[in-house]
Amino acid sequence: MEISEVRIKLMNDPHERLLAFCSITFDVSFVIRDLKIIQGSKGAFVAMPSRKLMDRCPKCHNKNHLRASFCNQCGVRLDENRADKDDAGRARLYADIAHPINSECRELIQEEVLKAYQDEKVSAQQDGYVCRYDDFGEEDYARLSPQEAEFEETIPIEASGSESTHIRKNNQILRIDSAERAEETNQPHHSSSDVPEPDKVSSNENEPRSKGDTFGSGIV
Ligand SMILES: [Zn+2]
Repeated sequence: MEISEVRIKLMNDPHERLLAFCSITFDVSFVIRDLKIIQGSKGAFVAMPSRKLMDRCPKCHNKNHLRASFCNQCGVRLDENRADKDDAGRARLYADIAHPINSECRELIQEEVLKAYQDEKVSAQQDGYVCRYDDFGEEDYARLSPQEAEFEETIPIEASGSESTHIRKNNQILRIDSAERAEETNQPHHSSSDVPEPDKVSSNENEPRSKGDTFGSGIV
């Protein structure tokens, strides 16, 4: 089996341990993507693609990351130390999606990938450089929901006394008379009860991960 192609996406952040993403092709036939090149204490190494382990909330059955302190759906408090531990006592939070089953294959992948990484850093310095890593661009997907966007756009632009006001809504200027306006203000687009409190529900995402949790699971 040969590695016929390696594609690299450089991260270019000197403060991050994640140096690059990459994909590898075997025998011009099979691609594995989402490998990571990580800066370790003894040099760069390759981490296999992995997924976050999830479990179901005992109350509402929504899936949550194993380190979530609260259910993302219903907000019930969860035991944040519930994950299995490995022999070194570290929580098992990730599982490999694909990985070599012997050291020969691991070394082959690591060698080819790190060589391609060095080559990529050189070619990235040149004019007209194009990254060939296939990306879904999912980091750019985040949008407000239509309801939230409408709420954001409903900004008072003119207040003309107590009788009426003009607001901009869906790119139209609307006049709202005082009676309607009272109704409008009494019925906000969302009440505090149906807006999740981000601090509560996503506690696991904001905490710095402890050493070894992030990428170490990819190493055999
Ligand atoms: Zn729940």
